[in-house]
Amino acid sequence: MSQLTYTPTSSIPSIVDDLRQTFRSGLTKNIAYRKEQLSNLVRLMKENTDALEKAIWDDLHKHEMECSVGEISPIIDECEYMIKNLDRFSKATPTTKRFLMNSGDKTIVRKEPKGVVLVIGAWNYPVNLLLMPAVGAIAAGNCVLFKPSEVSAHTAELISRLLPKYLDKRAYAVVNGGADETTVVLEQKFDHIFYTGNGYVGKIVMAAAAKHLTPVTLELGGKSPVIITPDANLEVAANRVIWGKCFNNGQTCVAPDYVLVPQDMFEPLIAAFRKSLVKFYTDTPQKSNSYGRIVSARHFDRLKTLIDKCDPKTILIGGETDKDDLFIAPTIVGPLTTDDEVLMQQEIFGPILPIIPVKDMNEAIEIVNSRDHPLAMYVFSENSKTYNHILDNTNSGGVVINDILMHLQELSLPFGGVGGSGMGNYHGDRSFDTFTHERSTMIRSTGMETVLSARYPPYTDDKNTLLSLLVYGFPSSAGAKVKTFFTVCSAAWNVFFKKSKL
Ligand code: NAD
Repeated sequence: MSQLTYTPTSSIPSIVDDLRQTFRSGLTKNIAYRKEQLSNLVRLMKENTDALEKAIWDDLHKHEMECSVGEISPIIDECEYMIKNLDRFSKATPTTKRFLMNSGDKTIVRKEPKGVVLVIGAWNYPVNLLLMPAVGAIAAGNCVLFKPSEVSAHTAELISRLLPKYLDKRAYAVVNGGADETTVVLEQKFDHIFYTGNGYVGKIVMAAAAKHLTPVTLELGGKSPVIITPDANLEVAANRVIWGKCFNNGQTCVAPDYVLVPQDMFEPLIAAFRKSLVKFYTDTPQKSNSYGRIVSARHFDRLKTLIDKCDPKTILIGGETDKDDLFIAPTIVGPLTTDDEVLMQQEIFGPILPIIPVKDMNEAIEIVNSRDHPLAMYVFSENSKTYNHILDNTNSGGVVINDILMHLQELSLPFGGVGGSGMGNYHGDRSFDTFTHERSTMIRSTGMETVLSARYPPYTDDKNTLLSLLVYGFPSSAGAKVKTFFTVCSAAWNVFFKKSKL
């Protein structure tokens, strides 16, 4: 059993205050400093790979290959990407000025860190979901308070021990605990809160942030559908859906939650699923090292209750469970309808996959649109007309055609939800932007005061004419140009020389 020590709630305000002092000192604004911290994070990942894999195994029985692709490599890659691109990202960008009167000025957008930011992680990818947003926050020059999920206690304990050894303790701190500790954390003022987890707590986080008008990124979940179209490659679809569903034992925010399939393809799809499952995990998945476990007895009970409530006739594959081992077999259930009271109400978040036959693609679209916008949607189709029709008529945080999860792995794509599945996004450039304040900056000279005085009161029609020219310049047509020229000359004469007109 891991010994995760919770942070005393009385010490939380001073931890945040210390980070605030550090931020005010300007320490984290230095680009070389940020790169050094990111390099230290790379070292942390590389020097402790075995320990991290062991902790994640203890929490989730996650195979080292899943750890590598889902937890460790992406962090290293993201740090290295940020180090390589940080000079470019953090450079002030000039804007293309639109108004004549500002043409001699410097207008730039400065990329400034937001300040002290909070990152709240979730248990299902306990390293990735805590460190991935933090990479963006560190790169952007913020101080960071890490709040690992207490549910994945082994990993939380290890990360809280490692982070202070590799990162500067003055700028980056960890708070451990559950709802009580997080409640106290959320009472403090932050400059951005990045939360990953369920929507219920997402609302608590947003309400707490509202008290300080703190911006939030909410990475939530939901029921992500798979649509099998009549022109899908069924064998490939089955392999990819089963792989995506069973990766981390179905405990992935973008795991396929349910499958919509044309009625006449229902039986062949089940047969293809069966084949893929045996190929990946044998007839006895409990003995397969590649098959994970449910994170806790509480989540196991929740999933077992779902299986127990299903009509046994609809459990087509799997259904076996073993509480001592937190094992739930890959379980395929169908044919179901979209209003099924057991499996179609909440996000499943485990290795149970309901299959819903539909009469055509329009019915599939209607089903997707009748629910909250999903975090991800997957369409299997060999025909661009088919999938474009589905894309044009639905909405989701992200979408993959002919595969599962892969948009999450491709870090050039912004990752996030829409509507009920979250707000804001991150990964790569977008992570840097999320934790950056774009500060509009205009640097003017004190010259041209006489001309620019046309904007000062007392206001007159002549001044207004001059100001219009200073703002918008001459009209484009030749006739209007000549007319404007004479009008402006007359106005300028009145404003600058006939003082009596003022
Ligand atoms: P969890 O139990 O680890 O909770 C997430 C965080 O919220 C933890 O740090 C926890 O301490 C904190 N928390 C819990 N109760 C709280 C409360 N009352 N007040 C304040 N903080 C509290 O994780 P979870 O919520 O079970 O995660 C699973 C959900 O997260 C699923 O819905 C999944 O789809 C979603 N998820 C989304 C993403 C994404 O990137 N969009 C990634 C992973 C998981």
